[in-house]
Formats: sequence, structure tokens, C-alpha cells
Amino acid sequence: MQEIWNAALRDLQTKVSAHNFETWFKKIRLHHCEERRAFLEVDDDFFKAWIEDNYMDLIEDALRGATGESMEVVIDIEGSFDGDDEELLEVEETRAAARSARIDGQTALFEFTAPPVKDLQELVTEAGMNPRYTFDEFVVGSSNQFTYAACQAVATTPAQTYNPLFIFGGVGLGKTHLLQAIGVEILKRDPHTRVMYLSSEEFMNQLITSLRKKDMNTFRNQFRNDCDLLLVDDIQFIGGKDSTQEEFFHTFNALYQSGKQIVVTSDKSPKELPGIEERLASRFSWGLIADIQPPEIETRVAILEKKAEADGLSMTQDVAMLIASTVRSNVRELEGTLIRLGAQAKLMGTRLTLDFARTMLKRMNLDTRRQVGVQEILRATASHFDITVSDIKGPRRTRAISEPRQIAMYLSRKHTNHSYPELGRRFGGKDHTTVLAACKKLEDLVATGDNDFARSIQELESILFGR
Ligand code: ADP
Ligand code: MG
Repeated sequence: MQEIWNAALRDLQTKVSAHNFETWFKKIRLHHCEERRAFLEVDDDFFKAWIEDNYMDLIEDALRGATGESMEVVIDIEGSFDGDDEELLEVEETRAAARSARIDGQTALFEFTAPPVKDLQELVTEAGMNPRYTFDEFVVGSSNQFTYAACQAVATTPAQTYNPLFIFGGVGLGKTHLLQAIGVEILKRDPHTRVMYLSSEEFMNQLITSLRKKDMNTFRNQFRNDCDLLLVDDIQFIGGKDSTQEEFFHTFNALYQSGKQIVVTSDKSPKELPGIEERLASRFSWGLIADIQPPEIETRVAILEKKAEADGLSMTQDVAMLIASTVRSNVRELEGTLIRLGAQAKLMGTRLTLDFARTMLKRMNLDTRRQVGVQEILRATASHFDITVSDIKGPRRTRAISEPRQIAMYLSRKHTNHSYPELGRRFGGKDHTTVLAACKKLEDLVATGDNDFARSIQELESILFGR
């Protein structure tokens, strides 16, 4: 029985990112199979809901692949499938009772909470946050939905779901936005929460000032006793700053032990952070580590449309498509480009038409070539060499297949922003070193110029980009 689940897991591993796999799938346990149903156990309700909302199809597919028949998946939290039916019923009833008690508790709490003295906007600004950075203003797509959901869970039930929550990802992808959205939401729910938002650099500066004034007590009280929610942006900055790390370590412990929520953002995962002490890095992994990837084209279009609407700028969808396929790397640049285009259109008294946008983007030295994805590259390469996409993704190593595979890897690395490991996965679960080797080899061959590889690549690029 375990065999079946192991086979399904191997299949799932090739279909989701390594990070998702570690976070979710590896932690699912098969409890038992009965007729054509697989009973799976997970740790908690958030986990269960997340899998149910996002991955049921994928899991059912994987099980079908492993068993050769269609299987229904039943997922629940640990212990739910133990014992006989009557006990099961009892577990359900107790849980339902607990849920309604929680809801009652909440209503009671709201009734007796004194009216806030300040409005939300004031509270948010005083905490050093931007009132615009809310969950509502954040556009969710597959690149960020996991982190978004985790942040919402933390904002709804602080210190109960994931503590600490560690968010990482590249520049301008919405880390600060989501971090503050947690703060804003918590203040909205309970204006009396003492929210501390700051960057790790500010933490260090305050520490230095307190040391200079010989007033460490105030500093420590502020962070360890007078704080219910600590939001620390850009933790990577304290890498290599030993006394700041030491102080942060104790702050972390004090807050954690008194059941306060901590959320941290970073440009790298805890394991990859340079100059961070092991004991701190390991604490970052106690709760949940969530990553944000660059948004896909659909999400970029949605973000542009949302921003345009908020700024009262009218823009057609083809203009949004053009901007979204031109500016690919991060959301901050995407926003910046839209603002500039809007301002220029206004200045010149014209509407933001497709032609106007294209001319302006060219003038900004932005490349308005169309964007291609790995899938498109795979298809074009396969048909060019008269093989199939499955051949490229498959294990065979004959030259007729391995050479086109290397070319497709090279093109994908050059024209998309996926990492080597991510490309390995998209090529049917190859090791990242394989992708790396292919890219290196072809870079050299392209540089030399006069060979079949370089010619094929040129032809494929002209097919893909119409040049
Ligand atoms: P980071 O902290 O990761 O560098 P920010 O949170 O500062 O990025 O985001 C940069 C800008 O892009 C902000 O104005 C933010 O509101 C916006 N932004 C990023 N991601 C999204 C999104 N998914 N939806 C809406 N706006 C976003
Ligand atoms: Mg930031």
C-alpha cells in the first residue's frame, strides 16, 4: 500500500516545484486504502484546506498513474481515520462544537472591545506601514498564491498556524506588500495589537543608538515586552552583523516563547542566506517557509489592470498585454512603466493606445519582442527536429534526441527567467547540473558561430520571435 503512495509521490515530484513538494506533498501520509479510496492524513486544517483547494486533481492523477485505476482521495487531519465509525463521528462532533465555540468567542470579543481611539489609517501609518498594502490590493496568481494564503492564515490566527512565517523571493515581487498586509489586517481585526514593523537595517540602527545611549533596557522592552506582532523586512541585511544577530536571536526567542507572531522576509531562503548563524537560520525553519516567484504573464496583466483602475487610467487589454510581455522581471518595474506611460499620455494629450505604448516602450529602450515560455520552446524545438515533446522530456539519450533537448534547454534559459533546477523539472525531472552543462556547451558553440548547433538555434529563434 505504501508502495502505491511512494509511486504517486515520485510522480508528483516531477510536477510541482521542489519547494512545494517539500512543504506539502512530502508531509502527506497515506493512512489506508479502501476499495477505490485513498485516505490521506495531514497535520492541520490549513494544510487540509490548501491541499483540497489546490492539489486534489494532481494527487488523484498521480494515484491513477500508480494504481492504474481511478482513485478518490479523502484527506483529513491526523487521527481522524483512526478507530471505528462511531469514534469518527465523535471526533467530528467535538470538532464542530469547538468550531462554534470559537465563533461565539469571537463575537463576544468584538462586542466587548472598546471602540478604537484612532482610525485604521492612523494606526497603520504610525506603525510605519503603507495603508495601500492590503490583501485586497494584492493580485493573486500561481506564483504567489501559496505565500498569500499563508499570510492570510497568519493574519487571521496569529501565532497559531505558522510561527515564524518566513517569506522569500526576488526584488519587487511583493514581499513588503504582503508583510504589511498582515500588519494592516491584524490592526483591522484588533486595533489594540502592538504591531512592530521595521527592516532589519532599522533594527540594527536602533540597536546601535541604544548601545550608544547605554539604554538597552528601553530597546529590549520595546521589542520583547511591548510587541505582539513583529514584522521584520529584509532580514538578509543582518548577515555577517554578529551583534545585531545576537540581539535579534534573543528578541526572537523572547517573543516566540510568549506566543507572539513573528514574520520575516528575505531575498533568499534561510539555507542560502550568507552570514546568518546556524541557530538563527534553523529557527526560521520552525514555522513555514514560503517563496514568491516572478508572476506569469496572466498575473502581470491582472496587476496592470488593477493599478490602472486604481489610478483612473483607461487602458485596453492589448496595451496591458504589451506592457506585461515587455516588462517581465518584477512588479515594481511593471508598475513604474505603467505610471510613466500614463503620465506621458496625459502630457501629450493622447489616449494610451497600442501604438502610443509601443513607441514609448521603444523609447524607454524596452524590448517589445513577444515573450515565449518553456512550453512554446519545447514545441517549436520538437517540431523543428521532427521528434515529440515527450522525447525531449523523456530519458532517452540518443543524439537525435539529446541534441534537440540541449538546444531547448539553452533557449529556455536564455529566453525565460527560470532557474536551472526549475528548468530541470520542466524538462521531465532532469537534474539541474544537466541543464547547466547543456547551457554552457551551447553558449560556447553559439559564440564560435559556424556549426549546426548555432544555425539551429538561429532558425528556432526566428521561428519563435518572428525575426
Ligand atoms: P519586494 O518587497 O518583494 O521587493 P514590494 O512588496 O515592495 O516588493 O512590491 C513592489 C511593488 O509592487 C509594490 O508597489 C507592490 O504593491 C507591488 N506588487 C507586488 N506584487 C504585487 C501583486 N501581486 N499585486 C499587486 N501589487 C503588487
Ligand atoms: Mg521589500
